[in-house]
Amino acid sequence: MICEKAFNGYLALDKFERVPLEITVHLLLCPTCRTAVRKLTRAEKALLKPFIPSMNASRSIDPVVAAAIARIEDSGLAYIPSCSPEQGVSFQRWLICGAIMIAGFVFLPFSSMGQWSKAVFGTAYSIPLFLLCGVAVTIYCMFFIATNIDFFVKKFGLQHDVR
Ligand SMILES: [Zn+2]
Repeated sequence: MICEKAFNGYLALDKFERVPLEITVHLLLCPTCRTAVRKLTRAEKALLKPFIPSMNASRSIDPVVAAAIARIEDSGLAYIPSCSPEQGVSFQRWLICGAIMIAGFVFLPFSSMGQWSKAVFGTAYSIPLFLLCGVAVTIYCMFFIATNIDFFVKKFGLQHDVR
C-alpha cells in the first residue's frame, strides 16, 4: 500500500474507529507514516488541553509574551477559571437544608403531634427523638464534609504539597 493511500485512509477514520488491518500493517512497516500519525496524536492531545495562561507567563519579563497573553485573555479565547474552587463550593444550600432540619427537630416537640406523643409515651418519646436528632445532624455533617472535602483540604492546608 502506498503511503498516500494509507495515510488518507487513516485520516478518513472516525475517532476511536478500528484501524483496518492493511493500514495498521502499513503503519507498522512505514516509519514516515508512523511518525506522522504520532504527530497528529500529539497535536490532538495538545489541542484538547484548555489554554490556561499561566500567571508566571503574564508576569514574564519578556514584554512580547506578556502582551500576547494579555491579548489572548482580552479576546476571551483563553480558558480562565470563572471562579476559584472555594467560590465554586456553595454552602448556601447546605446551610438552608441544615437549618430546616434542625428547626424541624426543635419545633417537633411543640407541634400537636409532639405534644400528643409526649403525653402518651413520655420519655419513651423524648429520648429516641433526641437520639434521632443527634444521629441525623452527625450524618448530615459527615455528608457535608465528605462532599466538600476538596474545600476543607484547601482551607485548612491538609494537602501536602506534591508539586
Ligand atoms: Zn507510509
